[in-house]
Amino acid sequence: MIANPNEIPITDNHIHVDPINGKGPIKIAKEFYNSGGRVMIIPNKPSWTFGEPFNFKKAMDLAIKYSEEINENTNVKAFAVCGVHPAEYSKLIESGKTFEEGYKLVKEAIDYSKSLVENKKAIAIGEIGRPHYEVSHDEMEYQNKILKYSLKIAKEVDCPVQLHTETASEEQFKEFANFADEIGFNKKKLIKHFSGPYIKEEENFGLTPSVMSSKKNIEIAISKGTNFLMETDYLDDLSRPGAVLGPKTVPKRTLDFIRKEIFSQEDAFKIHKDNIEKIYKIEL
Ligand SMILES: [Zn+2]
Repeated sequence: MIANPNEIPITDNHIHVDPINGKGPIKIAKEFYNSGGRVMIIPNKPSWTFGEPFNFKKAMDLAIKYSEEINENTNVKAFAVCGVHPAEYSKLIESGKTFEEGYKLVKEAIDYSKSLVENKKAIAIGEIGRPHYEVSHDEMEYQNKILKYSLKIAKEVDCPVQLHTETASEEQFKEFANFADEIGFNKKKLIKHFSGPYIKEEENFGLTPSVMSSKKNIEIAISKGTNFLMETDYLDDLSRPGAVLGPKTVPKRTLDFIRKEIFSQEDAFKIHKDNIEKIYKIEL
């Protein structure tokens, strides 16, 4: 077991757990804890991963159930994030739904995530956003409509949004910042999941980057400031090993960077505690 001597609440801001295709919540939480990790923020996986396409409610309920299991059985604090992955909308269209029909179904599901946030079962809406693959112009218009609807709903309950998007450069950050401004959504609470080290305001246009925690990314990120979160996007899918970073990455990277004095203790507390508490309105 790796010690976390100052009990920094080391947080993976985007980590999945999946007992059907992977190791599941308890095993992953224990591996995470034993590497020094303390807080897992868990977005739901898409509905096809448990074999019930378009059962959006169940997808969200599962993320909540897994978070509760972690909280009851391990020393890790887990929080659920609930939403509809943009690929779900693509699949609705492929299945024969019209753009409007698909939009209506996703809107209903986003309304359900709102109720989960209101009932304190989830701390944010996500991952929502835009596909990371090419889609038709018409579909993209609807994906943007869904994104904006989700921001509107999140504003009503004053919760953050975790954004899944195509590989974002400054141009996309600017576009999403404009969406937020249009709706009056607090950009700090708009979290770009799977982000590169876009740390400065002139790079991220006021959004919060959740940086993929490769060594290089985090080195660049910390050289520019502490206004970021860390994540792995671990999928917990044994058929896709190495698709993303492993579940121990965030604690290992953080503790290693403290040892090497790339992070100060204050930096680590800022990233893992202050930033998380402020954005999600939770106490660690
Ligand atoms: Zn994800």
